[in-house]
Amino acid sequence: MVAPYTQSSEVTHFIGGQRHAGQGTRTQPVFNPATGAVTRQLRLGTPEDVEAAVAAAQAAFPKWADTPPIRRARIMLKFLELMNRHRDELAAIITAEHGKVLSDAAGEVTRGIDIIEFACGVPQLLKGDFSDQVSTGLDNWTLRQPLGVVAGITPFNFPCMVPCWMFPVAIATGNCFILKPSERDPSAALFMADLLKQAGLPDGVFNVVQGDKVVVDALLHHRGVKAVSFVGSTPIANYIYETGARQGKRVQALGGAKNHMVIMPDANIDQAIDGLIGAAFGSAGERCMAISVAVLVGDVAERILPRLAARTRELVIKNGMEPDAEMGPVVTRQALERIEQYIDLGVQEGATLLVDGRGYRVPGHEDGFFTGGTLFDHVTPGMRIYQEEIFGPVLSCLRVADFNQAVELINAHAYGNGVACYTRDGQTAREFGRRIEAGMVGINVPIPVPMAWHGFGGWKQSLFGDMHAYGEEGVRFYTRQKSIMQRWPEDTEPGAEFAMPTAS
Ligand code: NAD
Repeated sequence: MVAPYTQSSEVTHFIGGQRHAGQGTRTQPVFNPATGAVTRQLRLGTPEDVEAAVAAAQAAFPKWADTPPIRRARIMLKFLELMNRHRDELAAIITAEHGKVLSDAAGEVTRGIDIIEFACGVPQLLKGDFSDQVSTGLDNWTLRQPLGVVAGITPFNFPCMVPCWMFPVAIATGNCFILKPSERDPSAALFMADLLKQAGLPDGVFNVVQGDKVVVDALLHHRGVKAVSFVGSTPIANYIYETGARQGKRVQALGGAKNHMVIMPDANIDQAIDGLIGAAFGSAGERCMAISVAVLVGDVAERILPRLAARTRELVIKNGMEPDAEMGPVVTRQALERIEQYIDLGVQEGATLLVDGRGYRVPGHEDGFFTGGTLFDHVTPGMRIYQEEIFGPVLSCLRVADFNQAVELINAHAYGNGVACYTRDGQTAREFGRRIEAGMVGINVPIPVPMAWHGFGGWKQSLFGDMHAYGEEGVRFYTRQKSIMQRWPEDTEPGAEFAMPTAS
């Protein structure tokens, strides 16, 4: 039976299988974004706390790496059961610290659970390949082995799902993991740590060190940390990639985004509006796969904009805990101010402000971090509101003459995370999928987040490193390949060979 999760007033670390106060004296408030109230204090970690976590992970590693994959999978299966049982509790923790509506938080937990399910298949995923008789009496096979102690650094916008992109695959493949969650919503990580322990995971295999740049830098520079997975904004992703790679680590660093949705004149306009509204304003636009640019082709603008503006004004914006809420607050007051400054900038740059979300107030929640949905028309490629990631509920519309112009526009953008095209024409859909320079493509699918076994990752400034997260790429990231050649004495010819050995 799992002990009920207690919301203590202080959020601590989880090291060596237990809650850990750490050495640090610095703290930082955690807010409920819907009310603006401070709910808890986060204890920020120190390099000594990282040292303790690495030591615990290193101590656990030899036995864990040697544990048969099927036994590791059985622990993941138990963890899967516990996550399913506690899904609603976890969703409520996420909404209370992030602000997203409860149904969206539950959806994020489900997408995290998908990856745990994938990791339960680890015996199959680790199966190597074998070549019999590559030369007389000689066999050659490959196997994949874990790296050791690996770390994950995650953003605020998916406090359950993004860690689940990393640790289930890392642990199932035999590594020990240190998670550094976002300091803005740190409790989901501790909740999952408790469930992993309840599932029977040996102490030290999964650790959480809370904190900020101090902890990140200690992880990046620690020689005992063999790989770093990062998800967050592009400047930090770039820093993580360069610093980690210089330290000889394997790094996968997923960055920011500016995701376009192309609406062709032949599209189902009702479906395109539904797709745009959900993808631009769901989670208050704080998704790396949110659509922040609508590319309106030909006469689509006249047909779509009046209805899009009406739907934007009608968004039900309130505390995400309320069942009919469509959009909650943004994560912090600083985020709110940054988003509203971008709206000011769009007006200064000459875009047409069709719906203005600035200064939105929710009765009874006057101190909450709310902004309304914002819609811009006549945005142009030279504007900063087009080039930069706003990460809020702001949708920019650009008008282009035809399909080719839409593709050229998107391919010239610095980011290449997700992209979508609404059309009923098979040839257009096929061309779009083949020519577009982005890592994840949706055809009449607004947010094409790949399923657990396909892997997630963008192109260009949206990803630094060689491999995407989770799926088979995730398995490759967290393991290294070994090739073994074997011949027995009975098949070995006498005498030294001085020529390069060849098959014979
Ligand atoms: P962020 O870059 O501010 O923070 C991400 C992580 O980096 C956090 O754990 C944070 O503590 C740490 N960090 C922050 N500043 C640091 C510094 N100077 N040095 C070292 N570490 C530092 O991102 P965020 O605001 O938490 O999340 C939103 C961003 O994440 C958006 O840009 C969004 O597009 C991106 N994101 C990308 C993906 C993806 O898959 N590509 C997924 C989710 C979020």
